Amino acid sequence: MKRAKYIIKCLKEAGFEAYMVGGAVRDYLRGVVPHDIDVATSAAPEQVKALFERSIDTGIEHGTVMILIEGQGIEVTTFRTESGYSDNRRPDKVEFVNSLHEDLKRRDFTINSMAMTEQMAIIDPFGGQEDLAAGIIRAVGLPEERFAEDALRMLRAIRFSGQLDFQIELKTLGAIKSHATRIQSVAIERIKAELDKVMISSAPDISMTYLVETRLNQFLPSGGLFEVDWSRYTRTDDPLAGWFYLLNQNGETFAALREYRFSNQDKKDLQRALEAKGLSEWDAWVYYSFTERQLTLALSDSDARHSVREQQEALPIRSKSELAANGRDLMEWTEQKAGPWLKEWTLLIEKAVVERRLANDKEHIKDWFIDEYHRHA
Ligand code: ATP
Ligand code: MG
Repeated sequence: MKRAKYIIKCLKEAGFEAYMVGGAVRDYLRGVVPHDIDVATSAAPEQVKALFERSIDTGIEHGTVMILIEGQGIEVTTFRTESGYSDNRRPDKVEFVNSLHEDLKRRDFTINSMAMTEQMAIIDPFGGQEDLAAGIIRAVGLPEERFAEDALRMLRAIRFSGQLDFQIELKTLGAIKSHATRIQSVAIERIKAELDKVMISSAPDISMTYLVETRLNQFLPSGGLFEVDWSRYTRTDDPLAGWFYLLNQNGETFAALREYRFSNQDKKDLQRALEAKGLSEWDAWVYYSFTERQLTLALSDSDARHSVREQQEALPIRSKSELAANGRDLMEWTEQKAGPWLKEWTLLIEKAVVERRLANDKEHIKDWFIDEYHRHA
């Protein structure tokens, strides 16, 4: 907030208007530390850039420049309106306007359409404070029009309901129901990003109830999968936990979520978590072979989730590189050349050490190995 105030002060000294806007004002009024602060100004992007030493053109064609202060970036956006969303993603045209009021009007919900001066005076033309106090998400203007302009807003309303534990106002809710099919035109990455935020929100079941009630889910890839009992889902800070819950509740494999374009890492972790979940017992070898994230995902109980790390830290070794003997030792002891046998025997030793049948000590490993090797030869 200190840095944003400094930016506002500089802009005002140069004769421009400048305010904190959007989510930061909402969070400030809720008594929550905002994770990023946006500034809106009457200055044009080039005028903003000229006032500060370091800036990045993050979205200059949309009027946004990022100002860097003490290594932290603050987005400064010129007052603007948006018009025409033919692809339902970004406005076809951004028009700069010369009033804050016009800028606030284009924003999605009343709670997100407030501004604040550097003296913390609130500018609230659409009743955002009242809705914030009442716990209501209400579209600015006519909800039908606003969702027709940008279909992602429907999912944003649903996401905020779970993040804030708020209700969606009736007309806004009705408009989501009647425009639900339009969500299909939104890029899957943006849909996935909103759903990830739902998964880690404080009340995912509120969002999920709205998602199903509005039938918005019906127009998402594999949308039927969302129709499970979310009241038994315990959130974590990892969105993948929600996706895991959804797959597990439906008895589905990862293939059902293919269209969401998970990263390869997330895909692997989801698949491994399902594998781990299917195991009847988690012994030392399981704790050794799966990562902390994979095992945590497979657990629904938060106490059990916390014990994964403890269990892993108690293992005699955490990876093959910690073994007191390596492939070269095995070759020396057997006077054999490298080959597939090396990998097989290393695995046997690894397993014996992990399961505490063998001490992780070179002499012990040598005795054990030579003994076993000759027995199998
Ligand atoms: P978060 O805490 O998730 O960052 P936020 O309210 O800051 O919430 P952002 O996506 O960062 O949300 O957007 C910043 C602000 O820009 C919003 O508060 C809102 O005023 C406006 N905004 C963002 N997306 C849209 C949209 N699709 N339509 C209209 N206004 C939007
Ligand atoms: Mg934000």
